[in-house]
Amino acid sequence: MSELKYCQGPECHTHQTKDRIKGPKGNKTYQTRRRSSFYYGNRNFCSTWCQTQWFNKFGNQAIDHFGRTTEPKILTEQNAWYKSIDWQLDDDNEHRYYSFNPLTKEQRPLTKEQYKDNNYTLNTG
Ligand SMILES: [Zn+2]
Repeated sequence: MSELKYCQGPECHTHQTKDRIKGPKGNKTYQTRRRSSFYYGNRNFCSTWCQTQWFNKFGNQAIDHFGRTTEPKILTEQNAWYKSIDWQLDDDNEHRYYSFNPLTKEQRPLTKEQYKDNNYTLNTG
């Protein structure tokens, strides 16, 4: 059984939909949506509306907290690598995982473990 969690939209409860009406008869109120899973904003929001409301209220604080971009980032041969999957199955009935560098057009094979490891990258810059 999955745990229920609340939508993180700061104004979620103000969106007047039937499914937000909760509480005992005679004391019904509009409340923040609660679900076992959400689809938006890394599964934190019930809708893009709630996600946008959150960003409008907290976005600047979040960007300042994690680091505001103040100069251009530059794509180079050293940091252009990204991971991909060839969905066509090989002779062993497996997908082929690889890193691809769109600037050099170079392709290098990856193991499935390297592909799934979020810390593994060929990028150096
Ligand atoms: Zn919401």
